[in-house]
Amino acid sequence: EPMRIDIVTIFPAFFDVLDVSLIGKARDRGILDMHVHDLRDWTHDRHRTVDDTPYGGGAGMVMKPEPWGEALDGLLTSESVLLVPSPAGETFSQRMARELAEERHLVFACGRYEGIDQRVVDHFSARRRVRLVSLGDYVLNGGEVAAMAIVEAVSRLVPGVVGNPESLVEESHEDGLLEYPSYTKPPTWRDLEVPPVLLSGNHGAIATWRQEQSLERTRLHRPDLLP
Ligand code: SAM
Repeated sequence: EPMRIDIVTIFPAFFDVLDVSLIGKARDRGILDMHVHDLRDWTHDRHRTVDDTPYGGGAGMVMKPEPWGEALDGLLTSESVLLVPSPAGETFSQRMARELAEERHLVFACGRYEGIDQRVVDHFSARRRVRLVSLGDYVLNGGEVAAMAIVEAVSRLVPGVVGNPESLVEESHEDGLLEYPSYTKPPTWRDLEVPPVLLSGNHGAIATWRQEQSLERTRLHRPDLLP
């Protein structure tokens, strides 16, 4: 059975780009079953209202709980994981992507404005598996870009989405280090040479060089990843 992904947003058009590239192909081949929904379809007033002013005052608007409640009542089953993009969530990581790739059904609730009324997360946390996920320590305008990043990171781990499974294991973060630099033809470009060891045909020396480069890059850019 394909992994099913449901995304609820007030901007469904954001996700049109998922039709291109590997994810689009995985969809066409029936490996991913993805559905994007307009939150406003679960409103009942003439203006299709999804937001209102915050209790307690303050700037900005808050997403009303009722449309979210109806949308998620209809989409979540006992198999689902509800993912709520939020700068207050746990930071998304390759490890989390691997966990989510094992799931059968992911549902994304993409907030806008100042976020979704807290009671939506409280209500569904008591009944379903819910995870608040942050893309990193910065603020986006909505959950859509975060959902897209998570869908891309997770779906490429689903068997069959990426053609060559070996290209998955050699990547940054899969072994806890950053990836070594890559080169292709031509051997000289704008006076810059490809490191000679890569042209040597000596597989042992190449593996050693790559390992050193991974360590060096990690030391330089992400010392926090080293033990
Ligand atoms: N007032 C909120 C706060 O400070 O936590 C920020 C709301 S933000 C403008 C609107 C929406 O964008 C959030 O509800 C969330 O869905 C999404 N968002 C913003 N930054 C994010 C991040 N770093 N990771 C994931 N989602 C984010």
